[in-house]
Amino acid sequence: MDLGIRGKGALVCASSKGLGLGCARALAEAGANLVMNARGAEPLEAAAAAIREEFGVEVTAVAADITSEAGRARVLEAAGEVEILVNNAGGPPPGIWTDWERDDFIKALDANMLTPISLIKALVPGMMQRGWGRVVNITSQSVKAPIAVLGLSNSARAGLTGYVAGTSRQVAHAGVTINNLLPGIHATDRADALDGGVAKAEGISIDDARARREAAIPARRYGTAAEFGSACAFLCSQHAGFIVGQNLLLDGGGVNTTL
Ligand code: NAP
Repeated sequence: MDLGIRGKGALVCASSKGLGLGCARALAEAGANLVMNARGAEPLEAAAAAIREEFGVEVTAVAADITSEAGRARVLEAAGEVEILVNNAGGPPPGIWTDWERDDFIKALDANMLTPISLIKALVPGMMQRGWGRVVNITSQSVKAPIAVLGLSNSARAGLTGYVAGTSRQVAHAGVTINNLLPGIHATDRADALDGGVAKAEGISIDDARARREAAIPARRYGTAAEFGSACAFLCSQHAGFIVGQNLLLDGGGVNTTL
């Protein structure tokens, strides 16, 4: 399927690895030119070079912390007037509710709520003026079903979800859609780190921790960054203009809900 976004500009935040990279690759495959971002310059440059080579699109790589004001300013300067924004950043650490203090919440809110909101505020007005735009926020299945040890994530992502629910309906008239993609468990460094934490806490191997989590997913496997990226590219396509303010779970059936 031609996604109709060849030659459009896409900013994909936190995209040197994992789900962000999956999104960047799928958008590049559809012909979008990219601005990619991550903190670590080396893996970012390597990912950008591989995408240029494989898909022949323009890729600008900006090594910066997207959760800092200075980092966002540099990324936005490189991005200019992009038509597509994919919001992503690392997730907060696991823990227990009694440990989290105000500063921990502020950090989580900054990374997973206020950073995407700030980028939306910077880029959506231009998209509206030009009459076309797509915003996809990578959030989490924890928005639909809380993951107790990820209370900081549950809280910050719920805040972004509320903001998107209202804002997406205020910008849709100008041809701009904002939607959220909710990953369940995907095979990325983040999943390895969480499995590592469980293995350590329970004295089992990482393979056993992973097998246990896979058994709890109806699809009996972790998702891949490639299939996550394909869903993102579709939401960013010409075909998705009537999909507004939605929360799409990609979780292999893991969250047991009817709607
Ligand atoms: P990942 O494999 O660890 O990749 C994270 C990417 O983000 C890397 O490219 C990393 O590069 C970049 N990054 C992290 N913090 C950044 C920052 N402050 N500024 C710029 N770039 C940053 O993680 P992932 O699994 O793809 O997860 C992506 C998001 O989805 C996270 O918020 C995670 O909590 C959420 N999520 C993931 C899963 C899952 O199963 N994988 C499930 C639910 C939700 P640098 O470290 O070099 O900056």
